[in-house]
Amino acid sequence: MYKPSFWLVVPAAGIGQRMKAECPKQYLRISHRFILDITLSRLLANELFSGCMVPLNPQDRWWPESESAKDPRIQTCTGGKERADSVLAALEALAGQAADHDWVLVHDAARPCLHPEDLDNLVASLCEHPVGGLLAAPVADTLKLATEEEPAGVAHTVDRRRLWRALTPQMFRYGALRSALEVCLEQGHPVTDESSAMEFSGKIPALVEGRGDNLKITVRSDLALAEFILGHF
Ligand code: C5P
Repeated sequence: MYKPSFWLVVPAAGIGQRMKAECPKQYLRISHRFILDITLSRLLANELFSGCMVPLNPQDRWWPESESAKDPRIQTCTGGKERADSVLAALEALAGQAADHDWVLVHDAARPCLHPEDLDNLVASLCEHPVGGLLAAPVADTLKLATEEEPAGVAHTVDRRRLWRALTPQMFRYGALRSALEVCLEQGHPVTDESSAMEFSGKIPALVEGRGDNLKITVRSDLALAEFILGHF
């Protein structure tokens, strides 16, 4: 029987506006290493992957300095305007290498704290699943819906029992994910993660509970937190 391969896509074409740093956030350093290098080396420590595609910003001038640029397992392509455009560009760049039935794991470059056990658990939980799914963490805080006026007040408290925070990696079949993203982008449907594209195509991705400390570095204070987490694995 055909045994699917596993491919990795690590979108790294963002400019990290919210960080207000001198370079995109994936090129900020933790313990002297680029965040992108930490993320990629942790993922590729797993021998599961047949290859890895990293979409980069056309203005990127840091990649050649990275450790990852010297890794023959990693290929790069040009990313797009939004994250979904970058992921689709990476899938297109994998055409001819990846088969429709192969699995693709998409993981944000800005999430260096993925725990290896979460990666193993995601793959083990979903490798027989008809759709695929994502790592996610149940919401712990009480959630408030804001009123529309400024300054906002509380309109009401949201029932959090079925609410999860979507993390990455997200794992779907190459062909299905590519078509789902194409349809969303053609129709202008907003896509902030791969799961939302699959949902729009009528599928029900599986939620695989992951660690809450798989944080996406977004603001300055996340850097110290990520350094602390990485020091405690
Ligand atoms: O900006 P945000 O935190 O949502 O970005 C998540 C990931 O998507 C980051 O690793 C970023 O580099 C990537 N991205 C991308 N192409 C874009 C925007 C974001 O590859 N146009």
